[in-house]
Amino acid sequence: MKDAVTPPPIVRQLAELRAMTAGWHLAQESVGVVPTMGALHDGHLSLVAAAKKLCDRVIVTIFVNPKQFNNPEDLANYPRTEAEDAKKLARFGIDAVYVPEPDQIYPNGFSTTVSVAGLTDVMDGVHRPGHFDGVATVVTKLFTQSTATDAFFGEKDFQQLQVVKRLARDLDLQITVHGCPTIRDIDGLALSSRNLLLSDRARTKACRLFEEMEKIAEGLNAGEAFEDLHAAAVKALETAGFTKVEYLDLRAADDLTELAAPTREARLFAAAWLAGVRLIDNIAV
Ligand code: AMP
Repeated sequence: MKDAVTPPPIVRQLAELRAMTAGWHLAQESVGVVPTMGALHDGHLSLVAAAKKLCDRVIVTIFVNPKQFNNPEDLANYPRTEAEDAKKLARFGIDAVYVPEPDQIYPNGFSTTVSVAGLTDVMDGVHRPGHFDGVATVVTKLFTQSTATDAFFGEKDFQQLQVVKRLARDLDLQITVHGCPTIRDIDGLALSSRNLLLSDRARTKACRLFEEMEKIAEGLNAGEAFEDLHAAAVKALETAGFTKVEYLDLRAADDLTELAAPTREARLFAAAWLAGVRLIDNIAV
């Protein structure tokens, strides 16, 4: 039995990762991968727990992927906490933390982009140009490098989850993509590495986003019109100090088509700025 408190090895080179996974596949073990950008919180750790439950071997990847940042300032400010991350992972008894050197992902002359059409034409695809190409490209690399049989992603980034499922299917990657529920703070705010960038004052207001989304969901259940609920929520968020609501959309859960009412399985999606930090969230309605 593996000792659950032994810190997992940190692997920085692809060759070393390949040497490990080759042995696992020979033994016909399943391999789970949890891709992250670090600054780990309980949302990430819930994915690690799900992977441990399902897979014989688990790799957590930590890579702040420059290609998915459309804003250089956001990339520069992104929290980096590798030592703390390694400590948080120690108790899970995972098999490796893959923290690739940048050249292991993007060697000199790297010139390929994976681009998923359609699903990326809306919401974050519009407001963060190039973001999903960066995500799809790095995820494809991490899938092929890790040779994982299963991958674990959060519903917190629901559009990303759909994009990743689509690329895995379209490119015949032999990997099952699992979506895991959003983990929230006690006041309802979805956990996010970017929450670390909120001042204490802004943090107390941040939960308003989820609260307003819940109000919309309740209103829809009571048969109220989305248009009216939407207008009231935007007004409430602006009054609470949100500087910009980028989108607050009702969409079909499967293909992200915009809906005027929840006539099919639907989700409510939001992106809004508070004190210089962009928050996103989504809930089922
Ligand atoms: P990130 O490090 O932000 O790129 O996120 C890595 C993975 O963790 C993604 O699959 C996210 O969807 C997932 N994740 C982030 N926040 C949460 C959360 N609050 N609950 C569940 N999963 C999350």
